[in-house]
Amino acid sequence: MTGQDRIVVAGAGVAGLRAAERLRELGFDGELVIVGDEPRRPYHRPAVSKAVLGGSARAADVTLRSYVELDARWRLGTQATRLEADRHVLHLPGGEELRYDGLVVATGVVPRHLPGAPRHDPRVRVLRTIEDALAVRRALVASDKPAVVLGTGLIACEFAASMRQLGRDVSMVGRSSAPLLRYGPALAVTVTDLHRRYRAKLALGTEVRHWITTGGAVGLHLANGKLLVAGCVVLALGSVPSVDWLRGSGLVLEDGVLCESTLFAAGVADVVVAGDVARWPNLRFDKVPRRVEHWINAVESGRAAAENLLLGRDQALPFTPLPRAWSGQYQVRLQMAGLPSLGDDTVRLADGITGYLRAGRLVGICGWDRPREMIEWTAELARRLPVPAARPSRASRTSRVSRLPVRSGPPGDAWLVAG
Ligand SMILES: Cc1cc2nc3c(=O)[nH]c(=O)nc-3n(C[C@H](O)[C@H](O)[C@H](O)COP(=O)(O)OP(=O)(O)OC[C@H]3O[C@@H](n4cnc5c(N)ncnc54)[C@H](O)[C@@H]3O)c2cc1C
Repeated sequence: MTGQDRIVVAGAGVAGLRAAERLRELGFDGELVIVGDEPRRPYHRPAVSKAVLGGSARAADVTLRSYVELDARWRLGTQATRLEADRHVLHLPGGEELRYDGLVVATGVVPRHLPGAPRHDPRVRVLRTIEDALAVRRALVASDKPAVVLGTGLIACEFAASMRQLGRDVSMVGRSSAPLLRYGPALAVTVTDLHRRYRAKLALGTEVRHWITTGGAVGLHLANGKLLVAGCVVLALGSVPSVDWLRGSGLVLEDGVLCESTLFAAGVADVVVAGDVARWPNLRFDKVPRRVEHWINAVESGRAAAENLLLGRDQALPFTPLPRAWSGQYQVRLQMAGLPSLGDDTVRLADGITGYLRAGRLVGICGWDRPREMIEWTAELARRLPVPAARPSRASRTSRVSRLPVRSGPPGDAWLVAG
């Protein structure tokens, strides 16, 4: 890339921001345009279901700072509406066309909605953005009736914990027989006990049959015959990749944007993909493309995608991280490393540390309030899952970046200390 070139980043979340920073760190001195449909600069999204929801942080407190001078043109509150990959053009509202020499796609995911839920009732919300968290807080102020969360995953658990910490009644409703069951039965029992200890109510193995909305409350008739009356309902039912705008672009859309192991969009020489929306084969595990929806992965893939964009597709290196993630519920820290979801069996590695085995091989670990031990077990996991020898993805040709500087960006292991 030269000073005449323009790189466009679509999606102003953490992956987009870290990609933009890395481009500048590596000396890209052309035009940098960052297009984001939210009205604000990138922020710490994990705080949405924790500090912002709980009221201990304001929106301004969680804005991400940039590690380098970005000198970027920010197009916030602007949705990328369409991509023409063969013309190297991103379409913006009002018929505007933005030509690019390189494109970073980092548009994340959107919450899954529930058919039949009264989506337009302001008391029925999802939880992805700061605006969502503020809307939930408004609903809580407007009514002292209990809160209900549909779902039993990480965000549902965090929401229930935040409600109890605010002193609000809350019920968690889900089809599953326990929260976080996908991390194995032992951890699910521990999480269930924790929520019961804090007197969050659990309605498990059931689902919503009918919704009733009145001026004073939202009613949920459950399949188990119970009726819940709520002042606020949050849908925490997972998410789907934000790829509608990419339909017809030529990019392969299969549960996200299908990528090569280097994060280049499959078969495309000037488009890289980062963050929650990228589905790529992490060769540390196998050749199966997967998405990872966690903060540290968004940071690391943003930086790796930028590096590879500057190197060029022929010189690009596979992105082979050891995924790490955390969640906070009440005062407890849950940490994950590797890919626990690949496990077909679990093993107790130490007090509070669960291992996930695939065909007898350790592929992931989970720590329940064991940050120190997790440092050691994460190092052990990394040893057991070595990175295959790195070599450029195709035959060697002239690189546009002769040598990448040592990584100087945000510390990837912030998860060990920060929530
Ligand atoms: C409530 C909540 C709590 C979380 N807590 C944790 C946690 O504790 N630990 C953890 O590891 N992970 C957590 N995560 C996950 C983590 O926040 C995500 O993995 C991370 O934010 C992904 O970053 P991203 O940049 O890929 O996507 P995003 O942060 O979603 O950013 C993508 C941006 O692109 C924008 N966009 C989408 N489509 C377009 C378009 N067509 N044009 C322009 N802009 C567009 C989106 O609006 C968004 O601003 C949490 C997520 C949520 C929602």
